[in-house]
Amino acid sequence: MKRICCIILLFSLAVSQAQPKSPYAFLPNYGKNVTYYHQVEQYFQHLVTSSDWIQYQKYGETSQERNLNAYYISSPENLKNLEEIRKNHLNSIGLFPSKNQSVKDKTIVWLSFNVHGNEFGALESALAVAYELVNPKNVETKKCLEDIVVILDPCLNPDGFSRYANWLRDISGTKTHPGHSDREHMEPWPGGRQNHYVFDLNRDWAWQTQLETQLRMNLYHEWMPMVHADVHEMGYNEPYFFPPAAEPYHEQIAPFQREFHQKIGEITSTKFDKEGWMYYSGERFDLFYPSYGDTYPCYNGAVGMTYEQGGIGAGRAVVMKNGDILTIQDRINHHTKALLTVVEFSFLQQEKLSSEFRNYFKDNRSKPKGEFQTYIVKDNAKNLELMTLLNRNRIEASFATETKKLKGYHYQSNKEKSFQIEPNDLIIKVDQPRAVLTQVLFEPHQKLTDSLSYDITAWSLPFAYGVESYALKGNLAIQTKSQRTFAVPQKMESVYAYYVPWNDRNSAKVLSLLHQQNVQVRSASKTVTFNDIKFEKGGLIIAKGDNPKIKNFEETIQKILVQKSDFVPLASGFASKGADLGGEFYPLLKAPKVLLLSGNGVSNIDFGQVWFYLDQVVEYPVSIVELDYFKKVTLSSFTTLILADGYYSFSENELKNIDEFVSNGGKVIAMGGGMNLFEDREGYHLTKFATEEEKTNATQKEEEDDLYNRFLDYEGSERRSISGYVPGAIIENKLDVTHPLTFGLGEKYFSLKTSPSVYKLLKGAENVIYVPKKFQSFGFVGSKLKEQLAETVSFAVDAVGKGKVIYMVDNPLFRGFWENGNLLFGNALFLVE
Ligand SMILES: [Zn+2]
Repeated sequence: MKRICCIILLFSLAVSQAQPKSPYAFLPNYGKNVTYYHQVEQYFQHLVTSSDWIQYQKYGETSQERNLNAYYISSPENLKNLEEIRKNHLNSIGLFPSKNQSVKDKTIVWLSFNVHGNEFGALESALAVAYELVNPKNVETKKCLEDIVVILDPCLNPDGFSRYANWLRDISGTKTHPGHSDREHMEPWPGGRQNHYVFDLNRDWAWQTQLETQLRMNLYHEWMPMVHADVHEMGYNEPYFFPPAAEPYHEQIAPFQREFHQKIGEITSTKFDKEGWMYYSGERFDLFYPSYGDTYPCYNGAVGMTYEQGGIGAGRAVVMKNGDILTIQDRINHHTKALLTVVEFSFLQQEKLSSEFRNYFKDNRSKPKGEFQTYIVKDNAKNLELMTLLNRNRIEASFATETKKLKGYHYQSNKEKSFQIEPNDLIIKVDQPRAVLTQVLFEPHQKLTDSLSYDITAWSLPFAYGVESYALKGNLAIQTKSQRTFAVPQKMESVYAYYVPWNDRNSAKVLSLLHQQNVQVRSASKTVTFNDIKFEKGGLIIAKGDNPKIKNFEETIQKILVQKSDFVPLASGFASKGADLGGEFYPLLKAPKVLLLSGNGVSNIDFGQVWFYLDQVVEYPVSIVELDYFKKVTLSSFTTLILADGYYSFSENELKNIDEFVSNGGKVIAMGGGMNLFEDREGYHLTKFATEEEKTNATQKEEEDDLYNRFLDYEGSERRSISGYVPGAIIENKLDVTHPLTFGLGEKYFSLKTSPSVYKLLKGAENVIYVPKKFQSFGFVGSKLKEQLAETVSFAVDAVGKGKVIYMVDNPLFRGFWENGNLLFGNALFLVE
């Protein structure tokens, strides 16, 4: 007994004597070379076991099965009451029903590092920041942590980081290579900035198309921090950047958020002045696009901030323009100083932060800033996907159960219009805790204070989802239910065929699964009625008669159709109006064999968007071939070649192979720069101008502008150049609704235009989706470009020999969030034959 007591005593002494080691003491190469991801985890594990000021939570795993980790750092007393602190905090903003009076409120500060994997100075500094927070000798941080709970995520993008870190370690010798052209500064394609699917996670906060974001946002919304700092790196010659951010600020950014930015800028600058470090603020990084690590927290009531250190491409050491050598240690020092200041300043401001944060949720609910207070999305299959997005953002929405006549703003015509709410229409009210985020995502007109923005300037969800929608200036009293229900398919003695509407991403996914199981599928090319069921164009028909080899036909097919709640079984192929199922208007669809090119020359993120669409959205097999190996490919074993945006430089021989592939019946989907292969080439109909006269006029106009600009000052040149520029705006397009490329899209297609590339309506090709003479646009479009956009084509189909080339001037898969674009791409892949 005595002996056991002694062991316990010794053990507890050992625990209490355990001291957290600094990262330098724990990792011999810290500050000299990049730290491997497993070492980062080991170091944090060491802190957790040696200090009672830090706790660990795993919040998920990435696509490559790496842990996503969050660490709570606060006083031991606070950590014991963590769950109560969280609930009380949520209660203060109306997101939790009760409050535990015995636990005091705390200020919640969230620090995010390394969303861009190759900005590794950010991750390295997370170790130093965490150490200084738990270090018992650092009395200042201990004092702050009595009142503050820090949530620290050392790496938002472990897959991208590891891709970079493993590469840098791979090429590191004992000496560094500070010379610019050394391979240490030339990261190979696709680079570690993005995640597994080559998506930029710092553009994904609102859309949450990626696994890492979805998992992180679950935790984020459980906590709703008051301050969020997003830690990055930029080009290695840049001095340090800290708040305030640059204009444009979104009108929804609250005065207290601006004020905090300004004040923290002042206090950080005094610290940097003392060290003699170079820095800047108020330039370049604006607060507008809602899907960043600074804006998204801002629209959720927090003070969201970006911190940037020079470091991309710096490797272990690099010579900067001023002749100095930038080391990993420099990067760690600057970030650590700035981030500890975030904790310190949040502590000093805690009372103001708490009261402003609470008022933000109360005031925006009762007196919203935006133009509209209710949004109505008409019943549409795409609404299920829209609901998923709203749920991920914790935006409340419900489905109408009654009918009501109203007048309101109609998105698609950009006009006031009378309309009727019907059962199953989706109702989103601004009067809810996330009032601001709701308005930011739904408002059709986002006010820009400055057109020199860093990113897209329009994103309104009704356009992105291609769903008819209205907005009301006032509140709406209407009965609703939380779930959309579907009629249970009628039981019948024997099923003749199944009809699956072609109206959302799941239509394409169902077709993909059917193809993979060798099920014969037809697609309706006309609108037809079977008793009370109306077949829309593109709708899939799976007929028993086409699939005699499938055993247990009904059971097998219905298993696949669970993905699509609105499918309908048919007892007969006899149409009540229009063509019977056996007729010529239901062509059989062929399963495409898809080849996608990757590697140097292909834009990595554009490649990633196509890969993600195929692998995750529709789960369809694809062969991915590096450009260097393209010459070894037997093209005739494929039916579809996808050229994501990029700069392709094919040899004459390779071009000839592509020509042959098309003329023998192959299909090419050419996106953005992929179209250059076909521009002005014999046999294809892609030209920038329809006539010689147009071409001459455009050249002449450019010359006149150049002559005029000779007399203008240098300072205004950047602003003048934006007249021909579009950072990302929504453009109204007309559709040829008889063409399979447009099936399911609706009456109009609102395209997200992110490049100034313009092609006048093509001669000799099908201009399927185009900008009409008069068109609506949302967001910033340069005045000169806006003029040029009239009567240009956005998506065209060029029939060449037996094959086809589909030109995509705009990118329908941009960041994966343009839902109607996902459907459009599905049309190109599966329906256009
Ligand atoms: Zn970054």
